[in-house]
Amino acid sequence: MKTCDNNFYNKPFEYIYVEDDCAGYAATTEHILSHFPDATLIPIHHYKDVFNRKNQNATVQRNSRQLILAVCKETWIYPGAPVCQDFGNDNFYYASLMMNCIFDCEYCYLQGMYPSGHLVVFVNIEDCFASLDSLLKEHPVYLCISFDSDLMAFENVTGYIGKWIEYCTSHPDLTVEVRTKSANFGAISHLAAPPNLILAWTLTPDYVTHNFEHKVPGLDARISAACLAIQHGYKVRLCFDPILHFPDFKSVYSDFFKYVFDHISPHSIKDVSFGEFRVSCDYIKKMRKLRPASLVLQYPYDTSTGVATYDADLSKTLTDYIYQEISLYVPSDKIYIWKGDNTND
Ligand code: SF4
Repeated sequence: MKTCDNNFYNKPFEYIYVEDDCAGYAATTEHILSHFPDATLIPIHHYKDVFNRKNQNATVQRNSRQLILAVCKETWIYPGAPVCQDFGNDNFYYASLMMNCIFDCEYCYLQGMYPSGHLVVFVNIEDCFASLDSLLKEHPVYLCISFDSDLMAFENVTGYIGKWIEYCTSHPDLTVEVRTKSANFGAISHLAAPPNLILAWTLTPDYVTHNFEHKVPGLDARISAACLAIQHGYKVRLCFDPILHFPDFKSVYSDFFKYVFDHISPHSIKDVSFGEFRVSCDYIKKMRKLRPASLVLQYPYDTSTGVATYDADLSKTLTDYIYQEISLYVPSDKIYIWKGDNTND
């Protein structure tokens, strides 16, 4: 029956919706389309005609994601959200070049944020650079470019991280973070590492990957990619996020950190961060409807602050324990903790 069910899905990227205005950005559009020679192209007026349609089931769509190419005509650069870490940087922003991700983590807030499971790529990346040019005239900028997707995982298709590396090289007042769970460092390994670009790998114990991170490379693959990036001179950050509470979490995380730092020298990384599970209450309501059987989403989180997270006692237990474990390997000035106030201590 499983095979029979699977046959009802379209193949991933069998259809590519292309906004009419992409014609004005032919080079990037054609570069992306060249990776899908057998896809059927469907012209559309605006990406929201497909992406924001009513009554979509993003969970079903994730079994056969399609691609939408669009032109961003709105804001490119947003102030960093309070649930994200600024790593002590002033002028913390994020940019959204892609919406949605080829991976499928049950705890991912994108499920609550977007009405569709399909991927959108904005092809007018040069306009994003132009917006940033203006902002950089006002002050230095710390910019996260891979929050609403996993750019590294799609780098073979877009080449966007390569373009950011080029932009970083000529804009020293900019610091860019590329967050990823991908093992696809090979897609950029031929490019010289700029000092103001940080590759941030999110690492999670096998228990979390097996239970909640679908289609995501395993821990060893992510560690190997991070090690390769370090060897190529890239600044590498390790993100242990989200920290989850589950039976035996102490021994699981203890073994996990030992394994990670046995394979990645703490001296070779820029810094580490960790933060417990946290999602806005608006998003978690939608996420719970989409995944009624998900243990990580149906947990009775404290929602009193407008953010679904562990209650104060459990939060303290988790944070103290994880900090203590990471401190066995990493000096305190390199550890960043999300505690709702971005405190580094
Ligand atoms: S890898 Fe990140 S962006 Fe992609 S589904 Fe998982 S949590 Fe979401």
